[in-house]
Order: sequence, then structure tokens, then C-alpha cells
Amino acid sequence: MSCEVGVDKAGAVLLGCSVAADSHRPGRPVRVVTHAHSDHMLGIERSFRESRLIVATPVTMEMMEVLGYRVPHGKAVPLGYGESVGFGDESIMLVESRHIAGSSQVLVETPWGSFGYTGDFKMPGTRPLAGLDALVVDATYGDPRLQRAWGEWDAIAALIEVIERFIAEGPVWVYGYHGKLQEVMAQLRIRGVDYPFKADLTTFRLAEIAARFYGVRLDPIEIYDGGPVDDAIVVFVHSSKLQGYRRRPGMHVRLTGWEMRAPAAVAGERLINVSFSDHASFREIVEYLDYARPRLVLVDAYRGRSAAIAAKYLERILNLRVKASPPAMLGAAQRTVTGYEG
Ligand SMILES: [Zn+2]
Repeated sequence: MSCEVGVDKAGAVLLGCSVAADSHRPGRPVRVVTHAHSDHMLGIERSFRESRLIVATPVTMEMMEVLGYRVPHGKAVPLGYGESVGFGDESIMLVESRHIAGSSQVLVETPWGSFGYTGDFKMPGTRPLAGLDALVVDATYGDPRLQRAWGEWDAIAALIEVIERFIAEGPVWVYGYHGKLQEVMAQLRIRGVDYPFKADLTTFRLAEIAARFYGVRLDPIEIYDGGPVDDAIVVFVHSSKLQGYRRRPGMHVRLTGWEMRAPAAVAGERLINVSFSDHASFREIVEYLDYARPRLVLVDAYRGRSAAIAAKYLERILNLRVKASPPAMLGAAQRTVTGYEG
């Protein structure tokens, strides 16, 4: 059994000797899934067959099921935040992160060191894993040039403004990725938006799980069957449906962390981008690491398009040892996940 820390070329985050998080690594007996986004469930069917244990929070397990992944019964280890499971002489703990419902960080304690992985996260709301020997960090927005001058609250406020302004003229369609849609639905209800919601079946079923997680009631909400929609309804559908639904009557809103112009910006005829992100900004990554101060920082270069730049700046700003991992991902080999914002 080989022991190492870092991200391999298939996107597996290796922590100690037994754990592979967020992608399959042949020979690693413990597969951890930090959350139910596709770029963190890589090779999951193979892990179901080959791994000994599948570790995730109960909410992530439920969401995986909705998305069509059935964790083999004898292998499932649902772990609440702060709970741990032992494998050999290693201990694996899941720690809360704020990203989507059920998302977690991973902490692995071994006789030769303690290793962590942030998973996807944003600040505040994610407790830094402090004082580790090595920490793998997500830096989807790791490029210091990609700075939004506004916060999440401004993005939600902008979305509410769009809804209030256009809902009398027809439905408002909101497109986003799994998890982000449900978080936004909860935020809207918390802020008193009480128009009826509709959501496609998967979005709806994930929303039921997320509503329990956030402790928010989403009613009135119905399943959207694909037909015509009345005015004064907010419809939530997965981003993949945007092209197909684009010409339907009403206002269309895309939730995207890549919109850097303003909290809300026109992106086409009857199409508005709302700049809502589920990932830490560069400043938030600095904030996390300044508190955590591990002996070695490894920036996930498999999922982050700017890992090399992020590593360079983080090293200078924080006076920590920082490397991109895997190093071969730099430059031309940069792969295809870029643009995905799971
Ligand atoms: Zn994610």
C-alpha cells in the first residue's frame, strides 16, 4: 500500500495510506465523497465495486441516491460532522464545510502525520482544519485577479430584485447546479420571498433533502413537469436545461460564480446572470489558510484552473510552503473540468 498526500491525475485526493477522496484510486480501500457534485463523485461506480468503505455524510449519501448512485449497503459509512471511522491505524473524520447541503472536509490522522482536504468550500461558515502536516485545498477561484467586489448577500439581493421586477410579466426561470439551486431556494424563503416555487424532479427531490439540512420550509413548492408555467412562479431548473428552455416566456436567470461585472448583469435578451458563488474567493482562501497554517499546502490543480498562480501568490502572501498538485496538470495539460463549477 503506498502512502502519500496530494491529488493524482484522475482527481483522487490521497490522504495517508488508505483514503482516496472525490475520485477512484485503485488499491485505496476507503473512498470518501465530500459532496454530491459530479466532479467529486468521479469513478464512484468503480469505488462501489472495489473499495471496502464508502464514507460520506448522511445528506451526501441521500443526494447521491437521488442522483442515481446506490451505495452498496455493506460498504456505506454515513458519518455526521465531527464523527470518525478507523481503518487500520488511520482515523477518518468529516468536518463541516459551507458549500452545498451535506458537504464536508476530510481529516485523516495517521501515525506519521495528519492530513486534510477542504473539499469545495466558502467562507465564512467553514471551520479551518488547523495545524496539519499537509492540507489539500480547493482553489476553483484561486486566481487573485478573479475578485468579486460584492458578497453573497448582494447576489441574493440582486436575485430578489430581478424576481420582484419581472414576475408580473411571466415566470422567472432560475438555472444553477445541484446544491446551489437548493441553497438559493432556502435563502429566498429566509428573506421572505413567498412566490410559489416549481422545480424539476431531481431539483425538487434534492430540495427536500436540503430543506431539512438548512431547517427551512420551501412551501409552496411543486414538481415542474415541463409544461407551460403561470405568471408569478419561480421555476428552478438545472443549468443543463438553459439552452432548451431559453425561448420560453418569462425572464431567465443564470446563477454563476464566473460573473465578475456586477451582482446581476445582462447576459442576453431576457437573460440575466446573477453572480452567486459556492466557492471561496482568493481572499477567502487566504483567510482559511492564514488560520489553518499547515506545514504544506497542496492546491488542487485537477479541479482549479489557476492552481499554479494560486500557489505562487498564496506562498508569498502567507509565507507557507504551497504547491500545485498534481504538478503535471500545469499548463497545457490542464484538463476539461475547467468551467464546471461544482
Ligand atoms: Zn462542489
